[in-house]
Amino acid sequence: RGIVPENHPRRDSILVRERLVEAMEEDVVVPQGLIAQGRGECFDYLIGEQTRDFAKKAIRYAALLLVKARNPVISVNGNVAALVPREVVELSKAIPAKLEVNLFYRDEKRERAIAKVLREAGAQEVLGVGENASETIQELFSERRRVSKEGIFSADVVLVALEDGDRTEALTKMGKKVIAIDLNPLSRTSMKATVTITDNIIRAIPALKNEVINVKKMREEEIMEIVQNYDNKDTLREAMKYISRRLDQLSLDL
Ligand code: ATP
Ligand code: MG
Repeated sequence: RGIVPENHPRRDSILVRERLVEAMEEDVVVPQGLIAQGRGECFDYLIGEQTRDFAKKAIRYAALLLVKARNPVISVNGNVAALVPREVVELSKAIPAKLEVNLFYRDEKRERAIAKVLREAGAQEVLGVGENASETIQELFSERRRVSKEGIFSADVVLVALEDGDRTEALTKMGKKVIAIDLNPLSRTSMKATVTITDNIIRAIPALKNEVINVKKMREEEIMEIVQNYDNKDTLREAMKYISRRLDQLSLDL
């Protein structure tokens, strides 16, 4: 593969792209996943490629929901497996939560490839592969309706990333709390989720794991304060206002 100069100003971003292209060659990522990453990168540019306060707030509340959940499940697709395999497994162990493969473009070969990536990253059990995806989300018509009975189907809290708006809405309608990691605060997923983390999964997943560890040490009063003060619309507003203010400032700095 092409060598990226050490001092290239966009080196990290280029390396992430190379990782996704390699994952596509290994049947983990589909071409559409590369396009999704491109859309995400655009919004990452707008927030300055850092975990901002609005994301930190959402991460903290998300950690709390995951720790308090009866059956929390982390939904994994190709891009997640390609970009943060170890981190997502570590997060699942810290909560603890189940891992389930769920794909927009479902195919058993890819499901197995993703499950293999997760197991190599330390996962003991991976749901949603082949026959395990035996239940149906009635509201959905795509192949993503197929879910695991002990996983997403019966989950009370589901963490999704690079998700589609329809499915986020369907999960919410089933009474589940949905935590979405999505760089685009304007996407339907961001609007429909219970908690929206406007951040890159590369930064958000490790941050979420740290927050899970913190939340477990919190006193009940602290937890109540977080629960009472969280409002997802406010968080999304903050993200949008942040981008707008930042662009204003950048235009003045030219
Ligand atoms: P929706 O269906 O919710 O309206 P969409 O159709 O615009 O979303 P999709 O292509 O379905 O978008 O999903 C990709 C989403 O994931 C995009 O909103 C994109 O911003 C986001 N995304 C892509 N890469 C990352 C990443 N590395 N970290 C976080 N979010 C990302
Ligand atoms: Mg979509």
